[in-house]
Amino acid sequence: LDPVPGADGANGVLTSKHSAVLHRHLDHEFLVLDQAKGNYLLLEDGRKIIDASGGAAVGSIGWGNERVALAVAKQVLAAPYCATIFFTTIPQEELAKELIAGTGGDMARAYIVNSGSEAMEAALKLARQYYLEIGQPQRSRFISRERSYHGITLGALAVGGHKARRAKFEPLLMDNVSQVSPCFAFRGKAAGESDTDYVHRLAVELDDEFQRVGPETVCAFVAEPVVGAALGCATAVAGYFKAVKAICEKHGALLILDEVMCGMGRTGTLHAWQQEGVVPDIQTIGKALSGGYQAVAGVLVNQRVVGALEKGTSAFVHGHTYQGHPAGCAAALEVQRIIREEGLLENVRQMGDLLEKRLRAQLAGHPNVGDIRGRGLFWGVELVADKASMTPFPDADHVCMEICELGLDEKYSILVYPGGGSVDGIRGDHIILAPAFNIKPDEIETIAATVARL
Ligand code: PLP
Repeated sequence: LDPVPGADGANGVLTSKHSAVLHRHLDHEFLVLDQAKGNYLLLEDGRKIIDASGGAAVGSIGWGNERVALAVAKQVLAAPYCATIFFTTIPQEELAKELIAGTGGDMARAYIVNSGSEAMEAALKLARQYYLEIGQPQRSRFISRERSYHGITLGALAVGGHKARRAKFEPLLMDNVSQVSPCFAFRGKAAGESDTDYVHRLAVELDDEFQRVGPETVCAFVAEPVVGAALGCATAVAGYFKAVKAICEKHGALLILDEVMCGMGRTGTLHAWQQEGVVPDIQTIGKALSGGYQAVAGVLVNQRVVGALEKGTSAFVHGHTYQGHPAGCAAALEVQRIIREEGLLENVRQMGDLLEKRLRAQLAGHPNVGDIRGRGLFWGVELVADKASMTPFPDADHVCMEICELGLDEKYSILVYPGGGSVDGIRGDHIILAPAFNIKPDEIETIAATVARL
């Protein structure tokens, strides 16, 4: 390993002086990752850590895959960059074809960018431009949900409901966004309330919000089908997405689903919306798309929106220097082919069932585990100070981060991902488990047993 600036020399630990300076608020020491193989991370000091969260729910085929490495190398040697204003490339076209086919033709085009936040920016602008092209310029508002996370750039932050991440930047955020309650049964459903009544209550709240702001002013409703970082793998109650889609249709607004974290197979189907019985108009994807081999994200757009832009006055007024990056597209294409050819979605479903069983068996009785929730290989464990009252830990405790740091201690050597914190003023600590789609049963057993020891 080349010398790392800021390394203090002891156990290869960084002091966060240089490369990690922007992470100073995380007052932990940084471990030096040397290699990643399969579902293990190897540190510079020789320690081996099981990767139970695919990094940040990114890894979808595990680490060190030669097929992907070769595809990227081949593309870099063939044509490393492409000015997408004039050119496309075979990997970009093949990737788009693969992605559209994966929606069963429900989506019409794929737009490839480099991060989930960029994908969200593009999604919001596409929605706005759609309404301009169809002669409804008064539509410029978005309705999203509290306690959500859609990315860190200003537009994405504005639709996000993560108050802690928004706080310092509030004056910079678009003010044409309003928010409704998320579908979060653990904290949102009243005692004795049926799923049907809960869905009805949330649907009425959304409909009222449309009425309050003026239904003719709304571009889109924005939501994550399974809420990742902000709520810890919170799945919606059955029927919720059908209800919100119906309200969007009633008011002529688009449905934007953010599948950056929960999509591309993470929940057991290629797209999480495929389990909800709805099809979005615009969808964002990222993370598992390239499995971490390159920085790739994207937007999938249906024919309604594509058709309007095709007939419209101008092309999509957007673009990034590195969008549709050939090496990124080559990586994502190879990862998606591996997932398809190796039938990994079936493994997500089977290993997801096993993980759920083991987590429930080993953790459900723990005095500080309030809830275990998720789908496929996307599981959140909500930590509470008091189980009887489900009282969260105080803000200052940073419990989810402490548990994740503890996992990295050599006694446990497991990477789990932190989530929550003080989101929207409501405390919620959870750890996220999101291993790669080709995880094996013995690795699931190790993960569940190790998490239970933390
Ligand atoms: N949307 C969701 C649901 C996410 O979880 C994230 C990142 O965690 C983003 C958007 C932003 O993606 P990125 O961090 O790649 O910009």
